[in-house]
Amino acid sequence: MAICYMSCEEKPVQNTPENPINIILMIGDGMGLAQISTAFSFGEETPNFEQFKDIGFIKTPSTSHTITDSAAGATAFSTGQKTYKRAIGMSKDSLPIPTIIETLHKKGYQSGLVSLTPITHATPAAFYAHVKDRDLHEDIALDLVKSNIDFFAAGGLKYLKHRTDQKDLYTALIAKNYKLDSIELSKYDINKKNGYLLAHEGLPSKLEGRKAFFQEATQLGLNYLTEKEKPFFLMLEGSYIDWGGHAMDAELLKQEVLDFDKTLGVVLKYIKKHPNTLLVVTADHETGGVSIGKSYLIDEETGEKSEEIDKVSINFNNDQHSGTLIPVFAKGKGAAHFRGIYENNEIYHKILKAIHQK
Ligand SMILES: [Zn+2]
Repeated sequence: MAICYMSCEEKPVQNTPENPINIILMIGDGMGLAQISTAFSFGEETPNFEQFKDIGFIKTPSTSHTITDSAAGATAFSTGQKTYKRAIGMSKDSLPIPTIIETLHKKGYQSGLVSLTPITHATPAAFYAHVKDRDLHEDIALDLVKSNIDFFAAGGLKYLKHRTDQKDLYTALIAKNYKLDSIELSKYDINKKNGYLLAHEGLPSKLEGRKAFFQEATQLGLNYLTEKEKPFFLMLEGSYIDWGGHAMDAELLKQEVLDFDKTLGVVLKYIKKHPNTLLVVTADHETGGVSIGKSYLIDEETGEKSEEIDKVSINFNNDQHSGTLIPVFAKGKGAAHFRGIYENNEIYHKILKAIHQK
């Protein structure tokens, strides 16, 4: 609750020890500047991205490779340390390092994760697990049971329920006071932790028919965490922008970016109502070497190329990650810290700085 010293009218909520800020980190996997630009070139409405004024760039290399992956990228955000490719919550010397969620739990924060991938996939995993390689899904799921994450919505039922070691981690989570749902985004139980595992592996992509899962899971998580009246850290991943790049599929890329932007709209609306919140939007790396370029028609018979006047298209350099600088957008409490050009692991330190500033 805000403390009113003189008059409550128009008094901004103070970031005092009694009133710590909420953190929302949105990660568009594989989302570089060209990907974001697709929302401006092909979207029907003004993109929500246009609402940001505090903008910066991050350098994304890992300690082992100039061109990083989601595991090392997310670990840099979640631990404040750069590490080797494929590492989940591990230092470059393969030692477990505390994640921002583990650190904030000790300060009384709640936590939430929303992803379109299995909950054990690299990006969400880096916020609660400690394993040497991102493919160790079953080990990551064991860490999920220990993590005490208050709210999660993603896929990955398989790694909890249908494991090669026959362990039933679904029941293990219920024993740890979770309400779980593997069918729909049902109403949460305010007296429990809540987990939604709505696919065996990943959720469908937009082209495969995913509806409003990302927006609805985000809203559900925000409602739950807010109703609990404790500060929270919430990570939201738009996972398949990366897939659009790997598949060199312009339509998939476009639809996933628009879906991300829609979710961004949900979050921006939330922080208008809850100004004691910091929103940071960024990506682990770019995928596809995407550009918004001239559009050409190719004559099927002659193979001749002719330019489509004043039309643009999404062009791919290849089907791999790239090493470009990645934009960072911030809004709310402490947003100004995120201006400038800096290393990806600085995101972690800047978030903690925003939390600690009085
Ligand atoms: Zn990728």
